[in-house]
Amino acid sequence: MRAIRFHETGGPEVLRVDEIDRPDPEPGQVRVKVVATGLNYIETYHRSGLYPLSLPYIPGSEFAGTVDAIGAGVNGVAVGDRVATAAGLGGYAEYALIPAEKLVHVPAAVDLDLAAAVMLQGMTAHYLVFSTYPLKAGETCLIHAAAGGVGLLLVQLAHRIGARVIATVGSAAKAELARTAGADEVIFYREEPFAPRVRELTAGRGVDVVYDSVGKDTWEGSLDSLRPRGMLVSFGNASGAVPPTSPLVLSAKGSIFLTRPMLWHYIATPEELAWRATDLFTWIAQGELQVRVDRRFPLADAADAHRALEGRETAGKVLIIP
Ligand code: NDP
Repeated sequence: MRAIRFHETGGPEVLRVDEIDRPDPEPGQVRVKVVATGLNYIETYHRSGLYPLSLPYIPGSEFAGTVDAIGAGVNGVAVGDRVATAAGLGGYAEYALIPAEKLVHVPAAVDLDLAAAVMLQGMTAHYLVFSTYPLKAGETCLIHAAAGGVGLLLVQLAHRIGARVIATVGSAAKAELARTAGADEVIFYREEPFAPRVRELTAGRGVDVVYDSVGKDTWEGSLDSLRPRGMLVSFGNASGAVPPTSPLVLSAKGSIFLTRPMLWHYIATPEELAWRATDLFTWIAQGELQVRVDRRFPLADAADAHRALEGRETAGKVLIIP
């Protein structure tokens, strides 16, 4: 089968097409014929070496397809089942593996490519607003990169809860998408410092929570945008990792709370995984959650997909199609 692997870390050019054997499922795993793989920012961290791995490595943990082979000890799954995962192995390939406990069945009403598009970014948006900082109606949140893959879903969920959403975006086209998703206010954070604007928009108080996926470039401003005892949820590093910081900063900024969550810790039990995936599939099937697929790249062009994501060109989901 064809798979994208990297043999050393570096820029997008290290992603290359290799012809390798189909992986055989080990006990507790299933093999899937992949229909679509979701591109996620974490794969750029894997590729660049920010998050170290043993090499060679096939990236891609989010994909959907049909079950093609089943390892020993797996129950409740049959060959031909339509399934998806956020925590699979080797998704940039024609066939990939899923640990059975990380698999969800995709309802007939949801297309497999939409399932691939929503598993990782959708469940991330879900845990951020329902579990990390359980957002309430009437509260105000600040969402950075609001027209990104996670961003557009996060804005919709926050709006649906009844919170006021202040969004930051990098272009006018992205502003329009954020507004359509439910943002009440939009700030162009590349053109003006966003924290003073957030103070203005909240009559000096600051927001209850900041959902920050940008990292290094927005760190200071996010700290300055919070109300006393608000929460900074730092969940990504699109602009680079946040530098080491003293806990005293948190007291100086108003006894604020800081957390740095990862999806894996919020879908660790079958109950939590099923809760989040079922909510998302139900809302998609009912037309209550819009998943914007920005573009689809053939498997062989995975490097171009990385370039587009890192170049801030994309708005919403990018899919890789084997
Ligand atoms: P996005 O689609 O959001 O793409 C990244 C966006 O970040 C860009 O489009 C851009 O939007 C913005 N951005 C700001 N500064 C930069 C920069 N210097 N370089 C590149 N982009 C920049 O990606 P994803 O939705 O896949 O991921 C968003 C973030 O969420 C990532 O940091 C990712 O690691 C994180 N994440 C964390 C998870 C967790 O559980 N902790 C799970 C899933 C994702 P604009 O042009 O509007 O500025």
